[in-house]
Amino acid sequence: MILIVGGAGYIGAHVNKELSRQGYETIVFDNLSFGHADFVKWGVFEEGDLNNIDDIRGVFKKYPIDAVMHFAAFTYVGESVDDPQKYYLNNLGNTLNLLRVMLEEGVKYFVFSSTCATYGTPEEIPITENHPQKPISPYGKGKFMVEQILEDYSRAYNLEYVSLRYFNAAGADPEAEIGELHVPETHLIPLTLDAAADKRKHIKIFGTDYPTADGTCIRDYIHVQDLADAHIKALHYLQKGGSSDVFNLGNGQGFSVREVIESARKVTGKDIMVEEVDRRPGDPPVLVGSSDKARDILNWQPKYHELSTIIETAWKWHQKRD
Ligand code: UDP
Repeated sequence: MILIVGGAGYIGAHVNKELSRQGYETIVFDNLSFGHADFVKWGVFEEGDLNNIDDIRGVFKKYPIDAVMHFAAFTYVGESVDDPQKYYLNNLGNTLNLLRVMLEEGVKYFVFSSTCATYGTPEEIPITENHPQKPISPYGKGKFMVEQILEDYSRAYNLEYVSLRYFNAAGADPEAEIGELHVPETHLIPLTLDAAADKRKHIKIFGTDYPTADGTCIRDYIHVQDLADAHIKALHYLQKGGSSDVFNLGNGQGFSVREVIESARKVTGKDIMVEEVDRRPGDPPVLVGSSDKARDILNWQPKYHELSTIIETAWKWHQKRD
C-alpha cells in the first residue's frame, strides 16, 4: 500500500486519485489542519499528526506500507519569514519523525515534495537541477535541508528517495472532483478566478516594473494532474531499482501575471478588474524550470501544458466548488 502523507491537500489528493485509478491501494494520513476531509475520496483515511510519533507508528503497524509520498507542509513563504520556527518544526522536524518511523519499519521508498524555492534567486533561466541551491526563505531552506538529509539517509540506511522540485502547481482535476482550495488563498490563478466570479472586486498585480516584457513576474505553471502523473512515475522508477535522485517538475514555459489574467478573461468570458500595486517581497522576476531530466529519466510528459487548459480546469472546479 502507498502512504500519502498530506493526502487531503491540493497536490496529495490529486496523487491519491491517480494512484487509485491505476489500481494502487492508498492510505491518506493528514491532520486536516489545511487538508479537506472531503478530498479523501479514495483509499482509507487515517487522521493523525506528524508531530506525534505514536500516530505515525500506529499507521505503519496497521498497514503493509510499501512506499511513502510526503506532501504535508506549510507553504506560505512570507509567513515562514515572520515565524521560521513554525516552518522548521513542521516542514523539517516532523519530516524527520516520518523518516524515523520508515527506518524503524524498513519501508524503503520515499517521494518528497520539494520546490523550486530551494534554488533561491535564479542565476540562469531555465533552472536545471544543477543550478546552485541558495534558498532565501525559511520555507525554501527547510525543504532544502530535507533534501540534504535524504542524501545522507539514503547513503547510510536502506532508503531510496526521489525529491520533486515543483514550479507553480496550478489547475484542477479535469473531472472537477477535487481542486485548489487554500484558506487563506494567496495564489494568482484562484484569486483571479474569484475576481471573475465577483467574489472579489479585483486581482492585485504585485509589481509592474520587473525587467520582463510586460513588467510583471513570469512563472512556470504546471498542471496538478501532470504533477500527479510524475509522482507515480517516480514511484515506478524507485520500485524498478532506480537510485535516489532529484527532478524539476515544470512546463519549461513561462507566463507573466498579465498573461495569466488575460487568459482567465478569455476562458471565463468575464471582465476581470486589476489593481496594480507594489512588488511582493521575495518574488524573483522570472522562475522557469527545465524538466528535461524528468522527461528523460522518468519518461514524464506534461499533457496539460497550455495555459488556457490549466485555467479551464481550475475554472470548472471553481464553479463546482460552491
Ligand atoms: N501574484 C499577483 N497577485 C496575487 C497573487 C500573486 O500578482 O494576488 C503574482 C506573484 O507576485 C507571482 C505570481 O503571481 O509573481 C505567482 O504567485 P503565486 O502566489 O500564485 O505563486 P508563487 O510564485 O508565490 O509560488
